[in-house]
Amino acid sequence: MTIEVGILGATGAVGQQFIALLATHPWFKVSWLGASQRSEGKVYRDATAWRLAAPLADDVARMQVDAATPGRAPKLVFSGLDSSVATEIERAFAEAGHVIVSNSRNYRMERDVPLLIPEVNAEHLALLDTQAARGWRGRIVTNPNCVVIVVALALAPLRQFGLQKAMVTSLQAISGAGYPGVASWDILGNTIPFIGGGEEEKIETETNKILGRVADGAIEHHPVVVSAAVNRVPVHSGHTAAISVALEQQPDAAALVAALGSFRGKPQDLGLPSAPPQPIVYLAEPNRPQPALDADRDGGMAVTVGRLRPCPVLDYKFVALGHNTIRGAAGAAILNAELMHREGRL
Ligand code: NAP
Repeated sequence: MTIEVGILGATGAVGQQFIALLATHPWFKVSWLGASQRSEGKVYRDATAWRLAAPLADDVARMQVDAATPGRAPKLVFSGLDSSVATEIERAFAEAGHVIVSNSRNYRMERDVPLLIPEVNAEHLALLDTQAARGWRGRIVTNPNCVVIVVALALAPLRQFGLQKAMVTSLQAISGAGYPGVASWDILGNTIPFIGGGEEEKIETETNKILGRVADGAIEHHPVVVSAAVNRVPVHSGHTAAISVALEQQPDAAALVAALGSFRGKPQDLGLPSAPPQPIVYLAEPNRPQPALDADRDGGMAVTVGRLRPCPVLDYKFVALGHNTIRGAAGAAILNAELMHREGRL
């Protein structure tokens, strides 16, 4: 069985990661590429400077990049579109009957759009039924912001202990800013305590929707209060988050480590092709996780957590790390589409 897929924003940092990850995918095959007028009409090899270590597959390299308009694309379309254009383009595709699985922020917080991490909130796919009210023949599903995925996955197993507050300080890689992204002049030997586009607000709002539950056809947001401080650091790939949490109950540290390491979800139960064996891997070494050593764990799909210890201000603190363009973007969207396929929603 082969399902043809298209990629909107195929020439960008996330678009390239889609192409790399889909090259060997057992179900999905790339048959259509869309990008801006700058790329339209060019063969893919000439439209983008390939920047990944994985080789660019020859059949995709020779494909012609199409305009980002619906019509010729297959039903399932992944989107890595720049957020300045994603609202209109993704809507046009959904109206025309395509299923858009998007990385862009534009629809994430809409009431009828799932903001999906399949291990955490697979049941949020039920929101897709309510999208019919928009008159769309297709649907839109989103994955969270690249650092929010790391934070929300690490917090999900702590809900059982009465998760009340989370303080998040992020150390985010330059690949999270797309290409060419942050100027080398600005980032080399430096850190920048600001990321535009409402990065801190995304952590403080998307997390609550993701951890929430479906009630009466809508999402009841989780009440955890999140405070975020973001930083851009001179790391190629891998977003790190130092997180302190306040919990209603007082579990011992061993119970928290066990909850993190034993956390599983639907992708693992269903054996989805992109599912890591363990969504969260806890490392006991005192100097882990590190982007250089841990971002690529399980094909970049596992989040690595370590350094869990008491916090003198809240209750516990720890460090979480995930690959921002794989688990935080293209890999997340592919896992979403795999779940949708297995649930009969494509
Ligand atoms: P990027 O490298 O700047 O790529 C943007 C893509 O959008 C390119 O393919 C570009 O095509 C296309 N595009 C721009 N203007 C367009 C237009 N008017 N019409 C059609 N296509 C247009 O950005 P990125 O880092 O891949 O991010 C893509 C999206 O994913 C963003 O919304 C971002 O916030 C989100 N995201 C990124 C990450 C990450 O770690 N990088 C993680 C999660 C989510 P051309 O090459 O033809 O200009």
